[in-house]
Amino acid sequence: MSLRIVVCVKYVPDATGDRHFTDDLTVDRDDVDGLLSELDEYAVEQALQIADEADDAEITVLTVGPEDAKDALRKALSMGADKAVHVEDDDLHGSDVMGTSLVLAKAIEKTGYDLVIAGMASTDGTMGVLPAILAERLGVPQVTLLSEVSVEDGVVKGRRDGDTASEQLEASLPAVVSVTDQSGEARYPSFKGIMAAKKKPVESLDLDDLDIEAEEVGLEGAWTKVDEATERPARTAGTIVKDEGEGGKQLAEFLSGQKFI
Ligand SMILES: Cc1cc2nc3c(=O)[nH]c(=O)nc-3n(C[C@H](O)[C@H](O)[C@H](O)COP(=O)(O)OP(=O)(O)OC[C@H]3O[C@@H](n4cnc5c(N)ncnc54)[C@H](O)[C@@H]3O)c2cc1C
Repeated sequence: MSLRIVVCVKYVPDATGDRHFTDDLTVDRDDVDGLLSELDEYAVEQALQIADEADDAEITVLTVGPEDAKDALRKALSMGADKAVHVEDDDLHGSDVMGTSLVLAKAIEKTGYDLVIAGMASTDGTMGVLPAILAERLGVPQVTLLSEVSVEDGVVKGRRDGDTASEQLEASLPAVVSVTDQSGEARYPSFKGIMAAKKKPVESLDLDDLDIEAEEVGLEGAWTKVDEATERPARTAGTIVKDEGEGGKQLAEFLSGQKFI
């Protein structure tokens, strides 16, 4: 029987661009450039490697996000995933990790799965807790922060590297794992992959399709609330130290004046 892998991928605001809050103190996700969270590329890569080793496997990439989040799905499809699911609904606006994990869990159950792979953290929220909450919601084991992962005979195995020791962990499928940026370089999409991705199926779902009430998600259903947010002050021009023989000294004085040294 086919090994059904679902990879959770997040569409995040481009960290190199300007980021803003909206009037209700949520992150502006509509008017900014975004991309597939870099850390989720590692999750897609591990899914592709596991699928290569399996006799028969199917990889679905899943995102909860605005219209433009389709870009993240297309990137994952161009890397080699088979199909995609996009959950989008106006009522999702303001969802926190509890709301997002609920939506992901329902979408994963609807899609069908043996193994869920997530990144170690998103590059915008960076909480790193979503995979654990997801496993709890699905009622399956979680093996998180793996630097190495493989599947054999209905068991997912992996290595988690800590500061002082490495642990070998395993769990029976179905299970949720998250992988780190040490798990292996993510491949670049080939031209053939980019062309093929255009024809791969992308299923769109909304809250009704997942039997989720609007009050369970969005700002209303959120467990956390942002009371205040202040935009970072604009960058000021830097100090230029001209080296006319005393450059090193001036640099040291500047750093010491700023209490860097
Ligand atoms: C349209 C929209 C509006 C939102 N508004 C708010 C808000 O106002 N306030 C708020 O607190 N949060 C909001 N969120 C949710 C938030 O951005 C995170 O998705 C969620 O809280 C998870 O936190 P994290 O990104 O820190 O997850 P982490 O735990 O750091 O993520 C770990 C992994 O979980 C997976 N993952 C995380 N998010 C998603 C996703 N959306 N789709 C697929 N996989 C995912 C990825 O594999 C990721 O690597 C919103 C999300 C969306 C899509």
